[in-house]
Amino acid sequence: MQTHEIVRRFTDHFVAAGHTRVPSASLILDDPNLLFVNAGMVQFKPYFLGEVPAPYPTATSIQKCVRTGDIDEVGRTTRHNTFFQMAGNFSFGDYFKAGAIAHAWKLITGSQDEGGYGFDPERLWVTVYLDDDEAIELWRDIAGLPPERIQRRDGKDNYWDMGVPGPGGPCSEIYYDRGPEFGAEGGPVADENRYLEIWNLVFMQDVRGDLSPKAGHPPIGKLPRPNIDTGMGVERVATLLQGVDNVYETDLVRPVIARAEEFSGRRYGADAEDDVRFRVIADHARSGVMIIGDGVTPSNEGRGYVLRRLLRRIVRSARLLGVTEPVLGAFAEVVRDAMAPSYPELVTDFERISAVVRAEEEAFLQTLTAGERIFDTAVAETRRSGAAVLPGDRAFQLHDTYGFPIDLTLEMAAEAGLEVDRDRFTALMQEQRTRAKADAAKHKVGHGGDGSIYRALLDTHGAVDFLGYTELAAEG
Ligand code: ATP
Ligand code: MG
Ligand code: MG
Ligand code: MG
Repeated sequence: MQTHEIVRRFTDHFVAAGHTRVPSASLILDDPNLLFVNAGMVQFKPYFLGEVPAPYPTATSIQKCVRTGDIDEVGRTTRHNTFFQMAGNFSFGDYFKAGAIAHAWKLITGSQDEGGYGFDPERLWVTVYLDDDEAIELWRDIAGLPPERIQRRDGKDNYWDMGVPGPGGPCSEIYYDRGPEFGAEGGPVADENRYLEIWNLVFMQDVRGDLSPKAGHPPIGKLPRPNIDTGMGVERVATLLQGVDNVYETDLVRPVIARAEEFSGRRYGADAEDDVRFRVIADHARSGVMIIGDGVTPSNEGRGYVLRRLLRRIVRSARLLGVTEPVLGAFAEVVRDAMAPSYPELVTDFERISAVVRAEEEAFLQTLTAGERIFDTAVAETRRSGAAVLPGDRAFQLHDTYGFPIDLTLEMAAEAGLEVDRDRFTALMQEQRTRAKADAAKHKVGHGGDGSIYRALLDTHGAVDFLGYTELAAEG
């Protein structure tokens, strides 16, 4: 079943059950806690928080999501994209646990001839929060799930809150058993590779006060009218329904792998290390295009930095596959063609998107070879001295002069079995920033202080707030 069909069936199912169809929000919402929208519920937060009354009792959406926290998993697990689509159904004080469970079960186990996904019920497992006996009973009564395929899990995986005092509640997640060739028995608690998580149902029933640490602070009350928030991973369902090994081989991602094979003359499936590179390229090309589509351009901070890292990582991965010519424009075309049926704006905006990726690649290719030489020399020197840590000065030089995002240097160092002196790197970044500010202040006085010189200096020196790994670590 093609991804477009999976998405269509999801929407049809919930619209037929009275849900209002709500379009995906942009990946960029004005939310101080989020770099990118990372779940379907984000655009509905004001309703869940009670700040604004919900304009409909129930809703359904297919939300574009980016999870930068999953970037290191990409290509190495079978199930993590940086960009993916989350299909969701939401109840704002309307139906609760029984309704959410009945809806999900009907859609995934319903026969394909009648609009369902046709999953074999015998291969489905669920998890529930530690003390959520009510959910266990509902899974038994509504879905007929035997107790041995219902597992209790603690708050790390199965309790959800918004990170601020307010609504929270237990979750229940649905997993599909891919079989013994994917790992050991024992259910999702034992192995999340064999048991693939496809859908998370959040039962928003509590009012939370102090949030830290969760376990030590039970909720301070119950919501008078509880809510439902769910998220189903479209690429994960596609992986299963298309009978492929992983999310990168599904119909909307795999074409980029094919294009990379043409460029490199190498074959996907021939070498484990190359395969990771093919998957990284395919995943990042898609997230890069989608992020640019929503208006972000590469820069040294925040979202622009994430984008830069994704794009430069593609370029370097292609290089490791033996490709030296520019690739990003061609990959962007493949992504456009795959994604356009759902996101027609990719076609109308393509000139802009293409110009952004081409310029970024051109800039990086100008310094990449020289930077790699600096890096190799630094690795050789470090090894010769018997140390295991690359000097922070080198990481700074690579960042400042050769445009290597620090995370790329960290990754390359890890590949060489080395660490990087991050403290020294951060100190140098800080020094540079202070210097730029001082320069700017000097110029400001001389020019009547309208601030434009300051801006120009920041632009040319690139001395901007560095949010690299602190941002990445804070999310996901
Ligand atoms: P995992 O444990 O596999 O990392 P998660 O528990 O972090 O997933 P949720 O936050 O529960 O995921 O998100 C809801 C659903 O979105 C998941 O059940 C899964 O199907 C899908 N999903 C989550 N993260 C990703 C990702 N990085 N790539 C593709 N699909 C994802
Ligand atoms: Mg999980
Ligand atoms: Mg989950
Ligand atoms: Mg996760």
